[in-house]
Amino acid sequence: MTGKIGSTVLGYPRIGPERELKRALESYWAGRSSEAELRETARELRVRTWRELRDAGLDSVPGNTFSYYDQVLDTAVTFGAVPPRYAALGLGPLDTYFALARGVEAVPPLEMTKWFDTNYHYLVPEIGPDTEFALADRTPVEQYREALEAGVTTRPVLVGPLTFLLLAKSAEGAPESFRPLDKLPELLTAYADLLRELHRAGVERVQLDEPAFAADRTPEQLAALGDAYRQLGGLSARPELLVAGYFGDFGEAVRELAGTPVEALAVDLVTAPSTVDSMSGVPGLRDKALVAGLVDGRNIWRTDLDRALTAAATLLGLAGEVSVGTSCSLLHVPYDVETEDIDPQVKSWLAFAAQKVREVVVLGRALEDGREAVADELAAARAAVEDRAGATRVRNNRVRARLESLKPEHSQRGDYAKRREAQQKSLQLPPLPTTTIGSFPQTTDVRRARAAFTAGRIDRATYQQRMRDEIKRVIELQERIGLDVLVHGEPERNDMVQYFSEHLDGFISTANGWVQSYGSRCVRPPILYGDVFRPGPMTVAWATYAQKLTAKPVKGMLTGPVTILAWSFVRDDQPLGETAAQVAMAIRDEVQDLEAAGIRVIQVDEPALRELLPLRAARHEAYLAWAVAAFRLATSGVADSTQIHTHLCYSEFGDVIDAIVALDADVTSIEAARSRMEVLEDLNAVGFGRGVGPGVYDIHSPRVPDVAEVAELLRAALRSVPADRIWVNPDCGLKTRDYAEVEPALENLVGAAEAVRRELP
Ligand code: GLN
Ligand code: ZN
Repeated sequence: MTGKIGSTVLGYPRIGPERELKRALESYWAGRSSEAELRETARELRVRTWRELRDAGLDSVPGNTFSYYDQVLDTAVTFGAVPPRYAALGLGPLDTYFALARGVEAVPPLEMTKWFDTNYHYLVPEIGPDTEFALADRTPVEQYREALEAGVTTRPVLVGPLTFLLLAKSAEGAPESFRPLDKLPELLTAYADLLRELHRAGVERVQLDEPAFAADRTPEQLAALGDAYRQLGGLSARPELLVAGYFGDFGEAVRELAGTPVEALAVDLVTAPSTVDSMSGVPGLRDKALVAGLVDGRNIWRTDLDRALTAAATLLGLAGEVSVGTSCSLLHVPYDVETEDIDPQVKSWLAFAAQKVREVVVLGRALEDGREAVADELAAARAAVEDRAGATRVRNNRVRARLESLKPEHSQRGDYAKRREAQQKSLQLPPLPTTTIGSFPQTTDVRRARAAFTAGRIDRATYQQRMRDEIKRVIELQERIGLDVLVHGEPERNDMVQYFSEHLDGFISTANGWVQSYGSRCVRPPILYGDVFRPGPMTVAWATYAQKLTAKPVKGMLTGPVTILAWSFVRDDQPLGETAAQVAMAIRDEVQDLEAAGIRVIQVDEPALRELLPLRAARHEAYLAWAVAAFRLATSGVADSTQIHTHLCYSEFGDVIDAIVALDADVTSIEAARSRMEVLEDLNAVGFGRGVGPGVYDIHSPRVPDVAEVAELLRAALRSVPADRIWVNPDCGLKTRDYAEVEPALENLVGAAEAVRRELP
């Protein structure tokens, strides 16, 4: 049995309250500061975090949660899993690390992908049969010592060995049958070495994160989890082990781990309250300590502390000892709501990382010393929760009445054959029509104008004139290049979600609510706190201005309801599907206004459709049902002759492919340049029979494809899909590229479409 863990958080933001790390990193990368300066900033941030967490009253302070870029990359480096092409660069340790993260001239970086269903991105380790694991870097030990010197005892946090291997991909050249998990025995030896060193350094307890087991796993993988922790637990000289599983129901893993010498388990009772049921009656759990994740690590609402305490009470009989923690690392929320100058009522409902630490401390004391010990804090939390629940501004009866009056036909468009005919008549497009995904490069001028407007240095009229000038330029450029369906270029949008949240009731923006997305990149998700209502048109003026400049159709450009939710902090007081329907109504109104203003093609982007897919397959159907319904509600309010497009930022559809068919968009643009059009076969296999624009220009790279190359991709596409359904477009927005690349690339794209058209029968 274990020493008491007490109140704790599973991790903490590390970018710095004022994004100090972002600035230090970017300055180092630009050669403006030295490695020593970067390291010093990092050290200051760590020490500050440790002391704040200790002073806030946490019983157990997490350590090793700092990272220069990403914790999965850190793990790869710690255990020597650096692919030879990076090691061969002959750089120092820090620059090798950044080469893995960001690439160098000749060597591209590791692939990056989303961390489970969050908006955080990790670098995908490459593991092959030849990867030699060894304890190659001792940062976790060093940071434990550094914290001790600063007067704080920490609990080092590591990515667990199973999750690390399950997130890795097979290195190029590995045999087809090879799985990174095959290397578990060797990796465990290296983990054992680290655990022994940590023990020698005086570490009492280590946290090993195994979120991969909150998702569906095979019996073999679960057995491997048990074996691994029996082995690590069997070490004679080691710290106590706390294994954390978050983002879903960790119950199966708990069952497995209960039979190992692991001392403690942390579970996520916010995402998956069902974990309590799947843990009950597990033999061996009574000998374990349990950290109950009752404070939401991924959202920004104040915790209902009464409810959390009731939940904690039901756990008391289950495990040997129960403490309170966050559901996951606080990496996914901003630092401190106190620094925000926002509406005081909404603010009183919010808790960012610093406030969540306080909540955990209060819950811990209530469990330990009784509710009376923290009566004032419980009362304050109760008042805030009640205020939010009863607040009139959260409810908009008009919105609710409209949703209630909806009938099935509001989500149903007419027969596709008829739509097609009506659209062809209205648009008169050639075969293989060419278009883009929406944004054009955001020039320094555009960015400056927006910053000046936000800061009040230029007035609205001046700002709007600048944007119109830009739109005019972009329209003229597209006409000159010869594209068929034009766009206005989105110069007025800083971000495809934030722009809409700023125009809708029910959202609030923060000034400093930054959350790390990857490396030094941070996002500031809007907060969706109430019923969503569109007070007026959001994009119509820009779209109609653009349409007036050209005889060609201009495509209206909107963000879809699922993506708006995915990149916001959403309300937790109603099912997400209901919130999605409200956002969908607002988008529907915009779609109809665009149509009424003469816009004949409207694109509703849903790049996040796949990202919100729940980790457990059992929950996919319910999610996809409301996600598809929201898109259809948003796009079904138009005439047959109005063409609806959608855009998805990927080509591996997997579990969402049927949903893509069900969206019933007239045209779907997808990523495909890198997958050589194979994706079209996948779409055919599920009976997709609408227009499709497989990206023929990979905008993620600065490379300009030539005419022959694009034409070849088009010919490949034509082998799977008839010419009257194929569209020709890049595979994503052009926002992050330069005109120097975009212009020739689009010229070649149009040139290729013309060439292939001539080959058509
Ligand atoms: N219309 C958006 C753009 O072009 C789509 C961006 C995206 O797919 N992420 O920028
Ligand atoms: Zn995209």
